[in-house]
Amino acid sequence: MRTVIGLEIHVQLATETKLFCSCSANYFAAPPNTLTCPVCLGMPGALPVLNRRAVELALRVALALGAEVQEISRFDRKNYFYPDLPKGYQITQRDFPLAVGGTLAFRVDGEEHTVRIREMHIEEDAGKLIHTEDGALVDMNRCGVPLIEIVTEPDIHSPREAKEFLRALRTLLRHLRVSNADMEKGELRCDANISVSRDGELGTKTEIKNLNSFRAVERALGAEDERQRELLARGAVVEQVTFGWDERAGRLILQRTKEEAHDYRYFPEPDLVPLVVTREWLERVRAKMPELPWVREERFVREYGLSPKDAGVLIEEPMRADYFEEVVRACGSAQEAAGWVLSEILRYWKGDSPPLSAEALGELIRAVQSGKISRTNAKETLEEAISSGRNPMELVSEKGLSLLADEAELRRVAEEVVAENPKAVEDFRAGKKQAIGFLVGQAMRKTGGRADAKKLSRIFLEILGSN
Ligand code: ADP
Ligand code: ZN
Ligand code: MG
Repeated sequence: MRTVIGLEIHVQLATETKLFCSCSANYFAAPPNTLTCPVCLGMPGALPVLNRRAVELALRVALALGAEVQEISRFDRKNYFYPDLPKGYQITQRDFPLAVGGTLAFRVDGEEHTVRIREMHIEEDAGKLIHTEDGALVDMNRCGVPLIEIVTEPDIHSPREAKEFLRALRTLLRHLRVSNADMEKGELRCDANISVSRDGELGTKTEIKNLNSFRAVERALGAEDERQRELLARGAVVEQVTFGWDERAGRLILQRTKEEAHDYRYFPEPDLVPLVVTREWLERVRAKMPELPWVREERFVREYGLSPKDAGVLIEEPMRADYFEEVVRACGSAQEAAGWVLSEILRYWKGDSPPLSAEALGELIRAVQSGKISRTNAKETLEEAISSGRNPMELVSEKGLSLLADEAELRRVAEEVVAENPKAVEDFRAGKKQAIGFLVGQAMRKTGGRADAKKLSRIFLEILGSN
């Protein structure tokens, strides 16, 4: 039995204005129902005009996925009634989508997977229902916000893979500056289709709608995978149904059965001309493409000598990759910059911007490299600078954290530590070489972290080796 998963992903495009009108598309923090006009409210007689910027962002994604952009694509109306859809239909592209084909490669535990893309089209979003104790409220600000829908082939074979695929897609979308693709904000949403196949034949699939976190994708698919396998194991059949997912309860919620499936009565949108993407337009978009994440990852390995793993972590977020490159420029060492960003900065990086400026970090790294302060003190200072918002080098001079590198002084401290820690000395002599680390740590403590750790280990080796 093999799990088969295909995803339908909605991505909100980061345009200034909506897909068919000039209302702001930046609805996230806007008061309800303030970003509307006759077009996005679907008033009789109002006419849509296609936002070319939205098309260009969609084309970036198509090019990055290696999809075949259709010279002519068309818009359709998908009709249904819902209180957040004042027009009574959604404008989408069903029969002639913007692009077909393409692939996205990603890694799971170091192993490369490739998922084929079936098609990609442009459509508009609906409004939002807000459920309160007194009933439902409606906010039309999101009506007409541009989306792309990306439909994959059923090439994914575990809930974990589905999650990693989505992560890779988010990384790509962010690098392309196409969308912030924040799942919590609904900028990236996913419907997941899943079946269990036997003897290589596709089984009956079920669909889980509107998954809006990576965790939800993995958990909901995990639950459904288990349910289907259990049914099949006892000879029962899987019914073609649609579920929602209750994240809090960790449970699938049955939304509709096959009999209740919608008939949307799609028909061609009569108010929009076909979308023509000329060669020239496509080439202009291609010429302005930002560096692709996998190209950047490869460059980090080649240009900076990073391991593929470190490069992979750095390119996960374009802001992180940008920051790393700024730190390299500020400190002059890619190895040092990578080490500090990966093992220190990432721990503190919670919000949208880095916890410390690249210049300030670069200066601190240079102080370690030039022997002004110890690495231990630098790390402590970093933490304090981040929590207090102060400049690290200012803290260094305020505290007098100059590196203690004086040979005689270090030897005196080391001898003291040896005398006070007979157990560790004995361990070292018995072959436990790690005991040196403990002794260096003790000496560091005695010097307030100021000592040159390299010199200290050499001195300890000399003392312990000579008697
Ligand atoms: P529908 O007609 O129900 O919308 P589609 O063929 O359009 O189904 O496919 C929708 C999504 O479901 C695609 O992402 C596709 O890869 C996936 N899919 C199709 N068949 C299966 C299957 N048997 N098991 C899992 N996923 C599937
Ligand atoms: Zn509008
Ligand atoms: Mg379909």
